[in-house]
Amino acid sequence: MKITKIQTYRMCVPLKVPFRTALRTVENMESVVVEVMTDTGHTGFGEAPATAVITGDTLPSITWAVEGVIGPALLGREITQLEEIMHLIQNAMVHNSSAKAALDMAVYDLFAQNLNIPLWKLLGGYRNELETDMTISENPVKQMTEDSLRAVEEGYRILKLKVGKSGIGDAEKVLQIRRELPKDVRLRIDANQGWTPKTAVRIIRELEELGLEMEFVEQPVSAGDREGLKYVTDHVTTQILADEAVFSVRDAAELIRMRAADLLNIKLMKTGGIYPAQTLCSLADAYGVKCMIGCMLEGAVAATAAAHFAGGRSNIGYVDLDGPILGKTNPVDGGAVFGGHLIRLTDAPGLGIRRIQRT
Ligand code: MG
Repeated sequence: MKITKIQTYRMCVPLKVPFRTALRTVENMESVVVEVMTDTGHTGFGEAPATAVITGDTLPSITWAVEGVIGPALLGREITQLEEIMHLIQNAMVHNSSAKAALDMAVYDLFAQNLNIPLWKLLGGYRNELETDMTISENPVKQMTEDSLRAVEEGYRILKLKVGKSGIGDAEKVLQIRRELPKDVRLRIDANQGWTPKTAVRIIRELEELGLEMEFVEQPVSAGDREGLKYVTDHVTTQILADEAVFSVRDAAELIRMRAADLLNIKLMKTGGIYPAQTLCSLADAYGVKCMIGCMLEGAVAATAAAHFAGGRSNIGYVDLDGPILGKTNPVDGGAVFGGHLIRLTDAPGLGIRRIQRT
């Protein structure tokens, strides 16, 4: 099975409601789909959304990185030479982690198809069902409460509240939403870099003193402020999850060495795909640090690849793969089954994607 052609096209899915975080507001899920074709007639699928405020990648930059720079280096390669292909993808250029992720997952898709087994089994075969949280966008408290209650009605048992814009007022916001929710609903808080280290400690401690349980608080401070992140981790008892602060395996190594966070959020768009994500996950595992599998606002191709990765690995203790559920439609036929709080992985070979309806 040799790589003969690589093509890209755009996928645009309108969101049910606008997605709002401390960093941005978005109304459509837009990404670049990558198809890697072979001389045997097989196609591997990949996808990369543009999240310029986090990765620096845009739709044109992803397209060019795939078609103009990294892709050509892969033509003619035998798919069984996984190690070599993966190094070609990672070393063809610096940065551009989203484009690398899209190609990486398409190659893994083919590698597993060639062996005729589902990718999650190839990557460890740990489980075929994952429970995801539902993200609640940052809005006035009344709307966040309504959105939370609707998610609970739809069966979600874990909610991830986006905050970070109201400073110390975020504590009251979380408290008000919590009061309206059933007791067994678990809460995750994501500040998306919105707080200063001292404000973060003040908010989290206030909530802790009121007895409010949080599974973790995600990226309370600026991505580049590792010392600030450590300050927060050292001064609260709630687990702190690093997200924007950890892209590469080296970032993870540094955060682990500093003990700057309790948990690490792996997103394929940050690591540059499954291959580096495997290393990151193993490194964290060796140090007893649990990881979350997360996603950007990504469609069912990228989220399927993330779900397969998480299905393979026991060190993924938390799942935040609600991207495809936030879209009004899903143009992807096959792949993981995103129906609600439970994501199911099938036994179809590779990622299990049959085709993508052009949007
Ligand atoms: Mg986050």
